Amino acid sequence: MKINIQEMVKKNIRELKAYKPEEILCPIRMEANENPFTINSSLKERVLESISRISLNRYPDSLATDLRKQISAKSGIKPESIIVGNGSDELIQMLITAFCENEDKVLFPVPTFSMFGIIAKSFGVNTIEIPLDSEWDIDLAEIKKSYEKNLPKIIFLSTPNNPTGNCFSENKILDIIEKTYSLVVVDEAYADFCGKTFIDQLKHSKNLIILKTLSKVGMAGLRVGYLIASKEIINILHKIRLPYNSNSLSQGAAKVILTNNEIVESQVQQIIKGREFLLEELKKLKDKEGITPFHSNANFILFKTEKDADAIHRKLTEEGVLIRNLNSDGPLKNCLRVTVGRPEENDAFIKALKKVAQ
Ligand code: PMP
Repeated sequence: MKINIQEMVKKNIRELKAYKPEEILCPIRMEANENPFTINSSLKERVLESISRISLNRYPDSLATDLRKQISAKSGIKPESIIVGNGSDELIQMLITAFCENEDKVLFPVPTFSMFGIIAKSFGVNTIEIPLDSEWDIDLAEIKKSYEKNLPKIIFLSTPNNPTGNCFSENKILDIIEKTYSLVVVDEAYADFCGKTFIDQLKHSKNLIILKTLSKVGMAGLRVGYLIASKEIINILHKIRLPYNSNSLSQGAAKVILTNNEIVESQVQQIIKGREFLLEELKKLKDKEGITPFHSNANFILFKTEKDADAIHRKLTEEGVLIRNLNSDGPLKNCLRVTVGRPEENDAFIKALKKVAQ
């Protein structure tokens, strides 16, 4: 008898497509919404000195106690309201593991971060996708209508939203938090680039959960995300958290970098400046190159092309610049997303785009 692996896979997994980062090698990488700046050598030395004292033969601190204390000192949130994940991806997975049964539903506006849907489907949980309006904002009436009909367990809202880059209207988010009995997950992965947060709302709303990550502000390689919620929700998540989900090296390095937060903060300011520069430059490419950029509150910009976006993307890679190709049928038709780079990378991208989009 021959083993047929495909037949053994759970049906909902068989139908899934794996999350696929861009894999082309290019000298200029502006595709993954990372921070383009590295830390300076003196901070790097402090990180190395600190992690050199870690006993690698021992398991990590399961509760990431020191790191949570450091996050608490920076944000004012009590450590017991924080849980650390191996990136915020893992925290999305923990939420669905803990709260969703097979036939449950999760709801999110689209287009948005693909992992909300991928993780839900991998657990056999139904996904309800509500299209954003023409301004890429939440369609509150449609969400409410769908809420009444489907009573989703979780509603995911990424603000600023990936890949559109804009913040959703605050009053619409508050309306959803206050008028539904779903868990509302506000994913603030890009909030450092707009300064808006819903943390204060946690005092008033038991159903609110906030996701944060260090990936976008310079520590994507460490895989550190954290979730902020009531103690009740955090304690439920601890029941299903794998015991050593956050490793010692990541905890140690993140702690040192967060202690020296002024470096990250100054990089965030440089990225915001870079974003405004790119936006202005992209706006100049309307008539001749047929480029329309969308307003952004994040560390990336979504833009639409009049010509075939696949061809522009391919030609940009030939020029040595990798950005994210989001071209697909529907609202992202001919859309590309560029992450803000270092000033010289931003210049090189604009120069290459002018050349290939004419
Ligand atoms: N949320 C959003 C909206 C994102 O865009 C991303 C990364 N692309 C994540 C969460 C996951 O981040 P992490 O690296 O912390 O897993």
